[in-house]
Order: sequence, then structure tokens, then C-alpha cells
Amino acid sequence: MNFYVFLAPSHQSATVHKGSCPHCNEGRGQRRPGLKANLATEWLGPHLDSNNAFAIARESGVKNVTGCGHCKPENTV
Ligand SMILES: [Zn+2]
Repeated sequence: MNFYVFLAPSHQSATVHKGSCPHCNEGRGQRRPGLKANLATEWLGPHLDSNNAFAIARESGVKNVTGCGHCKPENTV
């Protein structure tokens, strides 16, 4: 299984998703026409291990690192 980090520096947040999550869609995210281009976001991945994805999320330097409430990736570190 793949894991991805959704990074939103402007919100100081990083969220870890499973690749199969509909919010992640294997790192492509949800297509949202009209989403403002100045809200810079980024998908980091794929990562093969959820703990590794959480580590990458923390290393990105944002304040809030969470797991997606929908797909609930495990963080066992
Ligand atoms: Zn998710």
C-alpha cells in the first residue's frame, strides 16, 4: 500500500493519507475546478510505509501533522 503526505504550508498542516483514500487518489487529490492557484499545496509520495510518511510530514516543518480521519493511516512510532 502507498501512503502520501498532503502538504499545505499556508495552513501549516500536513495530512497523511493512504493512496486508496478518495481524498488522496494516489497523490492526484480531488479535482476541484476553480481552486485558487495561490493556495500552494503539494503531495509528497508515494511512501511505502505509513510511519515513514508521518516522518516526512514532520520533517516538512509545518506545525500540524495529522492522519486523515477518513482513511486513518497508522502511525505506530
Ligand atoms: Zn485520507
